[in-house]
Amino acid sequence: MIVVDLIKKLLKRGAESAKFKYSLIISMIGMVHVCLVVFFCVLHIVPMALLNTGSVLVYVTCFWAIRHDKSMRMVFYATYLEIIVQSFAATLCIGWRFGFPQYVIALVPFGYYMCHALLDKRRRYVIATVLGVIALISFVSCRVLSMYFGALYQLNVPEAVELGTYIFNSLCNFGFLFIITVIFLVEIQTAANQLQRQNEILDTMAHIDPLTGLYNRRSMHTFLNSALESESFCLVMCDIDDFKKINDTYGHDTGDNVLREIARMVQSQMGQHDRACRWGGEEMLLLIHGDLEQACQIAEGIRNAVNDFAFCLKGQSIHCSITIGVALHQEGDGIDHTITQADNNLYYGKRNGKNRVVSDLELKTG
Ligand code: GH3
Ligand code: MG
Ligand code: MG
Repeated sequence: MIVVDLIKKLLKRGAESAKFKYSLIISMIGMVHVCLVVFFCVLHIVPMALLNTGSVLVYVTCFWAIRHDKSMRMVFYATYLEIIVQSFAATLCIGWRFGFPQYVIALVPFGYYMCHALLDKRRRYVIATVLGVIALISFVSCRVLSMYFGALYQLNVPEAVELGTYIFNSLCNFGFLFIITVIFLVEIQTAANQLQRQNEILDTMAHIDPLTGLYNRRSMHTFLNSALESESFCLVMCDIDDFKKINDTYGHDTGDNVLREIARMVQSQMGQHDRACRWGGEEMLLLIHGDLEQACQIAEGIRNAVNDFAFCLKGQSIHCSITIGVALHQEGDGIDHTITQADNNLYYGKRNGKNRVVSDLELKTG
């Protein structure tokens, strides 16, 4: 469990920070070379021990370059070249059977991964493929050369040493392939999650008015069109009274806060399936699923809530009111007709004292 947690933590950090991920990869390859220095010293193969010491120095330099934000491309090309040279030299020195050519195979996915991360779209596939072909040529030529000319050093080691080296090299290679593949998958998943989050944000921005948090006019049209299929609904048009005065007296920012607060009150009065949008300026249009009486009750609730509320500003309290027009949608009417009806009722209220709810019914009887 501890190991799994550690791997998860490393992958998470690797997905968050490229610097950490590359440092980790370079450290692991460097460590393999430290083991190989010891291995070749024990076998008394001095050129390979020196070559591997040189590789350790290359990786120390690469590690320094990563930590100091130097060119990651140079680090990548140096690593790629170093692995090809090492596996080629090791195969020529001690032969094919110790498993050193395997490292070249693991280079191919590593090359594609790094080119994808470091190069622009146009060049990444071409360069990764060229590097892959170089790895292939080196792999095959290693085999051919060691077949025709044999190993430079004829080692007289027990079979267990040969097998042990082969297994060590296989473990390093498979480990490397697993790590590259898992990093790739974690990054794909992270990118997909990011994309989903961005889509959600864009979706919200496309449908929600940023100031009030109410739906915007565009999404209200969608709700209105689907409401045409439901049985009975009303449209409620709200307009804050003398809002210009609030702006002029207390400033536009205070006006914004008042508008936000009133939008919150409007939302708190509505049913779960009702919808409210900012129709424009300080006008809000509400879609209420229900009959005229229910819509008037909600409108009256909003009017009372606004009327009773005092907005506090630097020790002063600002009082506000709202006028509301309510219209029942009649079957066969277009939606624009019902909106106009709600608007007419609202303006009747404005002309007749404000701070009122005016419905079709009231107009007919009044
Ligand atoms: P009435 O009672 O007749 O509605 O008077 P009113 O002053 O509210 O007049 P009207 O509705 O025509 O004017 C709306 C004002 O609302 C004009 C504009 O300055 C202000 N306004 C519109 N949108 C915003 C906004 O997003 N923030 C702020 N602070 N003010 C806004
Ligand atoms: Mg107004
Ligand atoms: Mg207005």
